[in-house]
Amino acid sequence: MSLNDDLFARAQAAIPGGVNSPVRAFRSVGGSPLFITSANGAYVTDADGREYVDLVASWGPAILGHAHPVVVDAVQQAAARGLSFGASTPAETELAELVEERVAPVEKVRLLSTGTEATMTAIRLARGFTGRDLLVKFAGHYHGHSDGLLAAAGSGLATLALPASAGVTKATAAQTLVLPYNDLDAVRAAFAEHGSNIAAVITEAVAANMGVVEPDAGFNAALVELAHAYGALVILDEVLTGFRVSRAGYWRLDQVRGPEHPYAPDLFTFGKVIGGGMPVAALGGRADVMDHLAPLGPVYQAGTLSGNPVAVAAGLTTLRLADDALYARLDAAAASVSEAVTDALTAAGVAHSVQRAGNLFSVAFGSFDGPIRDYDTVLAQEAWRYPAFFHAMLDAGVSLPPSVFEAWFVTAAHDEDVIGRIAEALPAAARAAASA
Ligand code: PMP
Repeated sequence: MSLNDDLFARAQAAIPGGVNSPVRAFRSVGGSPLFITSANGAYVTDADGREYVDLVASWGPAILGHAHPVVVDAVQQAAARGLSFGASTPAETELAELVEERVAPVEKVRLLSTGTEATMTAIRLARGFTGRDLLVKFAGHYHGHSDGLLAAAGSGLATLALPASAGVTKATAAQTLVLPYNDLDAVRAAFAEHGSNIAAVITEAVAANMGVVEPDAGFNAALVELAHAYGALVILDEVLTGFRVSRAGYWRLDQVRGPEHPYAPDLFTFGKVIGGGMPVAALGGRADVMDHLAPLGPVYQAGTLSGNPVAVAAGLTTLRLADDALYARLDAAAASVSEAVTDALTAAGVAHSVQRAGNLFSVAFGSFDGPIRDYDTVLAQEAWRYPAFFHAMLDAGVSLPPSVFEAWFVTAAHDEDVIGRIAEALPAAARAAASA
């Protein structure tokens, strides 16, 4: 047994499933999850001292590569000044200003610690602002684990949702309408039936928690138009995409994709990159809506560690280093890796679709008519090919997300050498997928 396996056995006795977040558990690919002891640039090292090219990047935050020296230095300096004060700091305002400068519709920002808190607060704020109860979300979109967002589609398009987790009450789930993604007719029908009681539509800027599924050109803009026609708000969830796909997230890339643009969502949620690997998230948006938050307004929200000075130092330093040249590098790395995946799978005769949006991409196995647009199609894929593909890559020293339904993440440290190592590992993994 490897040290890694020992650690997993010990962790399973102390921690439910041995992990502190379920997707780390390798449940869908099998085997012991990696226990990471250090990370640097494009690489992570496990407890057995094995080094892997990392395509998880902490599920997104590590755009600069792991342990970037400038970020580590900023964190060390901040830590030496004190870990947490429970009081305001100058750097919090600098981070809020930076977000407002980059993402035009964001006029005010509240910092929090996790993406879950950001979306949960956005929904409470939308309800408090509009005085309405219902929320619209899309099937296959993930917005964190607050009760109202763990809702699954009911039987009809415009019917209220059912709990998607034990412990979520039927009453809570019934406050959410779960609609098929990229289906504006379904959104129109939901507004026609429930419009006067819909507080908000929440949507991932690009769906990236069912693999990557781009919104149709003009879809996000149409959501804003429709919601506003009924007096509802739109929450653009950029927890995953914000500051990862461009300096201003997916919203900026989306501005040039359709005839309806520009469009302005009322609220944005951020996480991951905004903390540079530390726990920072943010809720931002229209000042008149944001000012409904306590202490100015009646919508309560708070956090002992919100705006934590060490975490903010990591986020601020990361965002300041992320210029257009960096995003161009990430785009080029994503293009090279995804082309190498396609070449290898094609050579092995494995039908697949590489789904890409900016520097985010994922691989779906099976034959599809063009890019995938919805969750039902995602679920119908040949997901059973992935475990063999994943483990062949891992054996060759490349760590992929341990689920076919997750995006792959490159960093600025994924240079030609690193991409070369990935490309070398791919043919055997593609053959493993072919014979799975
Ligand atoms: N929204 C989106 C789009 C996400 O991808 C995630 C996390 N994967 C969340 C919200 C929740 O963020 P957190 O895990 O920080 O609570």
